[in-house]
Amino acid sequence: MQDCIFCKISRDEIESQKLFENELLYVIKDIAPKAPVHLLIIPKTHIASINDLSVSQQSLIGELVLQAKEQATKFGIAQSGYKLIWNVGADGGQVVPHIHLHLLGGKKLKE
Ligand code: 5GP
Ligand code: ZN
Repeated sequence: MQDCIFCKISRDEIESQKLFENELLYVIKDIAPKAPVHLLIIPKTHIASINDLSVSQQSLIGELVLQAKEQATKFGIAQSGYKLIWNVGADGGQVVPHIHLHLLGGKKLKE
């Protein structure tokens, strides 16, 4: 059992408003949004970073990306466009050591 914030949210030990949840993943709004739409798509399995991914987990990554696409459509930004970002490690700006896909949109985003 991991003592990590995204594992705790997954287990409902920390209150959150999940926008979507299934057996593999869940979606929450980022607590400090950097765009009008800023969601996090998070696997329920604890994987510390993309560096820790194994080949057997490749379909999980596909599920996360497909869920991001669904959410972009739901939030009405699929056509205007959005960014999907994986931060990895210190230089990549990763703060929470449990992989998560950022979905950002709703305005013209800088590089
Ligand atoms: P990272 O920098 O690790 O790629 O992104 C972590 C993100 O998680 C940050 O954008 C941060 O605002 C968000 N975050 C951290 N703790 C919480 C939390 O308890 N709830 C929510 N909804 N977002 C969080
Ligand atoms: Zn975790």
